[in-house]
Amino acid sequence: MSAQQSAAPSDEEMQERRKKEQIQLTDRMRPIKHKIIVMSGKGGVGKSTVSTNLAIALSQAGKRVGLLDVDIHGPSIPKMLNLEDRRITGSGDTLLPVELLKDFKVMSIGFLLKNQEDAVIVRGPMKYHTIRQFLKDVAWGELDYLIIDSPPGTGDEPLTVVQSIEDLDGAIIVTTPQQVAISDVNKSITFCNKLDLPIIGVLENMSGFICPHCGKPVDIFSVGGGKRLADEKGVPFLGCIPLDLEIVKSGDNGVPYVKAFPDSPTTKAFREAIYPIVCLPERSD
Ligand code: ADP
Repeated sequence: MSAQQSAAPSDEEMQERRKKEQIQLTDRMRPIKHKIIVMSGKGGVGKSTVSTNLAIALSQAGKRVGLLDVDIHGPSIPKMLNLEDRRITGSGDTLLPVELLKDFKVMSIGFLLKNQEDAVIVRGPMKYHTIRQFLKDVAWGELDYLIIDSPPGTGDEPLTVVQSIEDLDGAIIVTTPQQVAISDVNKSITFCNKLDLPIIGVLENMSGFICPHCGKPVDIFSVGGGKRLADEKGVPFLGCIPLDLEIVKSGDNGVPYVKAFPDSPTTKAFREAIYPIVCLPERSD
């Protein structure tokens, strides 16, 4: 037997390590009152846009907020918040989030990339370890809300988050009105049900179009699919965010929409969507 083989940890040692790691992770999460995962059935429905703007809207409502991006293959939060040049800082078992505004902190797996064009090549078990390390090591301090932006679908990343955070409040599921996205969102609902994760609500994004000329809403896709689906499945509906060209520009410029346009009807829609989140009951511990 080689020295390397004899040094391999036994199953018992591995179990012990995992237990210790879970205790550290739970300790990190304890000062955070509410933890929410944002999911979508497929990519491109505006999940990261929604995560960012909901997080900023919560912060504008006076809450202490952290935004965590665990999208290993396509982290878009750094670009949306103009933080592409940021890198991970900290030492030992402590990673420091970027404090973008007072009481608004951000951490992204994208901060690990030397170059935003770099691809992260990580397979299943590595994803699990990377995400758990983020959950265990990022020193958020006291927060009212941690919003976790996970990649589309029901793969390793959301699964790791749900299985690692013992007191996750629940999931927000983002969809668009088109039927194809709606059928994908069904999978997200099934995922939450199978894992006993409460669904805070379904949010229909790109719902109707705000005409850049007259500022009035126009229904270019069918609208209302998200609400119908939520009613059918007996889960709450958080509201509709219209398709708004200014959201694209804001995302590209790195200034969150609700910050750039605090008084617009679209910002009002974001604010209405956070209402049930602000009203989440306090935990008793
Ligand atoms: P996902 O995280 O689901 O992949 P993103 O949040 O990255 O999607 O959004 C994809 C693109 O759609 C981005 O260019 C973003 O600016 C744009 N987008 C998202 N929501 C809206 C909206 N309500 N109106 C207009 N553009 C939007």
